[in-house]
Amino acid sequence: MINKNELRLLRGALEKLEAGFTDLPEFIPEFDETALADVLGEVAERMQDNYPYYHPLYAGQMLKPPHPVARIAYAMSLWVNPNNHALDGGRASSAMEKECIVDLGAMFGWESPLGHLTGGGTMANLEALWVAGRLHPGKRNIASTQAHYTHSRISEVLGIPFSPVAVSSNGRMDIDAIEALLQQGDVGTVVVTMGNTGLGAVDPLPDILALREKFDFRIHADAAYGGYFGLASNLNADTEQAYAALTHVDSIVIDPHKHGLQPYGCGCILFRDPSVGSLYKHDSPFTYFSSAELHLGEISLECSRPGASAVALWATQRLMPLEKGGEFANDLGCSLSAARNFHARLDAIEFFTPLMAPELDIVVYAVNAADTTTASASARRLFDSAADKGLHLALIELPVSLTGHWLTDIEVNSDSITCLRSVLMKPEHQDWTQRIVAILEECVA
Ligand SMILES: *Cc1c(COP(=O)(O)O)cnc(C)c1O
Repeated sequence: MINKNELRLLRGALEKLEAGFTDLPEFIPEFDETALADVLGEVAERMQDNYPYYHPLYAGQMLKPPHPVARIAYAMSLWVNPNNHALDGGRASSAMEKECIVDLGAMFGWESPLGHLTGGGTMANLEALWVAGRLHPGKRNIASTQAHYTHSRISEVLGIPFSPVAVSSNGRMDIDAIEALLQQGDVGTVVVTMGNTGLGAVDPLPDILALREKFDFRIHADAAYGGYFGLASNLNADTEQAYAALTHVDSIVIDPHKHGLQPYGCGCILFRDPSVGSLYKHDSPFTYFSSAELHLGEISLECSRPGASAVALWATQRLMPLEKGGEFANDLGCSLSAARNFHARLDAIEFFTPLMAPELDIVVYAVNAADTTTASASARRLFDSAADKGLHLALIELPVSLTGHWLTDIEVNSDSITCLRSVLMKPEHQDWTQRIVAILEECVA
């Protein structure tokens, strides 16, 4: 779990940091070491009550530890504890945040986006939909039934009407259903999910963009989970086209704490048109906004924010730039390969029916049974017995209308069916699918 070299690297980084603060009279805070050690021992013991997210046999939810460079940079910056709300709270870390935003925007082909880091995808989506609502007052937000539930809830918070859009059997937003809603004339914003959290399906962005020729609406891309996958070199052709089209949307949410190797507390909102910055401030003296000109507190709904998040992200992007063909991109490709591989292995086993082929790195699979109620109960039992053998999976509840296309020989005696779900988001998963499947087979036997 812990590579001891990290502790050595942290010490070295701290010594370098401290060397920048030697012109003041010496001042070293003191503490009672024994008391701290006692409490820390207790904390370590409490923290043992977690699933082993770092291990490839954790193949459940979207969880993994940050990259060592992010963890060390984050920890180091805590001795300063910068606040990126305002420049005097975090001068260096604010500059680093702006550089991160430039690189994230460039990944989507944006030259001067307005953007900043947030506490997570929820806050980032709140900002996107708040701006969308200001620009299309009184209009409706629509998002897929497989979109993150945060969109209907955020719409409620903002007092914006919301409608769900049906998905096709591949989990993507159904284009005819979108058009039918657009024809009603009151849609202000279409939320397009670039990799939904349950299935990893990518909404058909090129088709949605084409609808803008007939209808006037804003497009917000929720790429909290899937935003980085445009860098991977092994996407399906249509998924790749959807990512290529991202450059034409109005706003993008991406979560560095999902696939960007960051500790929690790191989401990001990007707006293609920096002039939306004027919405944040009613008496702004600026006529043109870009993240480079404003300090971050002026373009963020949140006030105090951890500068440490920006420091960690900057270090990670420095070590592993957001480039096609680079190490970071290749690791995403490995996750996708792992998911494809896992899907194929499951398909070869009598006991399971995997649903749609993975577009990103999520695999959803049903347990074969005579009817949907039995299949659900078996999935839940398997979830428990796998955990007993050290293999940690996740469950997902899906409407039978969605699974019907994949599960053809099953009697439907419930509205929904519980399936197993694995997010294979660690590149190492590629080398572990065989072992994971072997454990599943043991459980079944
Ligand atoms: C995780 C996720 C969110 C919510 O983001 P948080 O960082 O958990 O607040 C929103 N949308 C999608 C698609 C997600 O995967």
